[in-house]
Amino acid sequence: MTEYDVIVIGAGAAGLMCAAQAGQRGRRVLVVDHAKKPGRKILISGGGRCNFTNYDVTANNFLCENPHFVKSALAQYTQWDFIGLVTTHGVAYHERDHGQLFCDDSAKDIVNLLLAECDQATISQRYRCEVHDIEREETGFRLKLNGELVRCQSLVVATGGLSMPKLGATPFGYQLAEQFGLKVLPTRAALVPYTLHQEDKTRFADISGVSVPCSITTESGVCFTENLLFTHRGLSGPAVLQTSSFWQPGEAVTIDLLPSESLKEVLVAMRDKHPNQTLKTSLSRLFPKRLVEVLIARDSLPDKPLKQLDDKQLDQLHHYFHQWSIAPNGTEGYRTAEVTLGGVDTHAISSKTLEARDIPGLYFIGEVLDVTGWLGGYNFQWAWSSGWVAGQHV
Ligand code: FAD
Repeated sequence: MTEYDVIVIGAGAAGLMCAAQAGQRGRRVLVVDHAKKPGRKILISGGGRCNFTNYDVTANNFLCENPHFVKSALAQYTQWDFIGLVTTHGVAYHERDHGQLFCDDSAKDIVNLLLAECDQATISQRYRCEVHDIEREETGFRLKLNGELVRCQSLVVATGGLSMPKLGATPFGYQLAEQFGLKVLPTRAALVPYTLHQEDKTRFADISGVSVPCSITTESGVCFTENLLFTHRGLSGPAVLQTSSFWQPGEAVTIDLLPSESLKEVLVAMRDKHPNQTLKTSLSRLFPKRLVEVLIARDSLPDKPLKQLDDKQLDQLHHYFHQWSIAPNGTEGYRTAEVTLGGVDTHAISSKTLEARDIPGLYFIGEVLDVTGWLGGYNFQWAWSSGWVAGQHV
């Protein structure tokens, strides 16, 4: 029977980072994945350019039932450490809004970086490999890989969340946690577009592709100011994806379509200058014309010359555009979600080592844990930090 010091299940962001670190410490490491190649999510991330971290990373950028859990790993391996690694490997990158860092060329650079780090040690990798029959032994674990029995002292679960099953996502890590008596918190798709009720879906499908800056607030009071994108299925864009992690089914969201100006002040000024200008023309100076047409038709807005609108009507319009309320009927689910909320309960995991407190040698890292980052490179930073930390302890 082949024996390893460490077996890492999952050759994604967290698993490859952990394997490279453990290997560089001289551990005999095997990484296994049922997919045919490593890092498939990395390759499609950030529109193919991988938003690999963010200049500004704090625990506040993560959702977790145990809010202090992420602090230790994020402090042990920071965004600056990963930026240093990217620089060492000569990967060109640039900053976009909100401190987000993307590759200049391709997300492939990040996968190549991780594989090059693995190559600095002797790390075995097996793809198209099914993992079965994991059992605990006195000094480690025994498992079957495509039917072959192998042993290891430390077993690292880096199988990610449920989003994008087409790319190989499975509930394997949750099932394994439950097999060892660990609690798994309910999971839900996050960083995901909203779908709309049929009538709105049809209306807004006509303006699919239209994007507007806005602030979206959930019923729990969480607010993000970013772009909103109308799609043929519903609502997307960064503001929507961010709030989807905080939205609960059945709730409405409130959208300020003009977050940096007062609509009433703008309309009063327009009414003074151009009293015969219609509401539609006036609003089309502020918003995309096709959006204005849809909203006027949808909510019977008074499309008259501005001089015929009294202050009460301007107040109503002000309220409408600054507090446009819409109730999604759901989300697009795991099919298009970037991440999964919930997962292995972190209360049973050491935040300093990522080892299960009551099961020596068993580690959980990356998205399989109940740790979900905001949009903006935070999910990869969690993968790097948690993977690096486990890599020092396995
Ligand atoms: P993964 O990277 O998902 O790796 C898990 C690995 O486990 C996979 O290789 C999978 O094949 C393997 N596996 C699963 N089940 C089994 C099994 N039963 N047996 C063997 N192997 C198994 N985050 C950012 O920070 N920035 C971005 O730009 C960004 N863009 C994204 C774009 C998209 C479209 C998606 C879907 C996600 C994006 N994310 C982004 C989120 C990010 O990709 C994940 O949070 C991150 O990959 C999680 O890393 P992980 O190693 O925990 O899991």
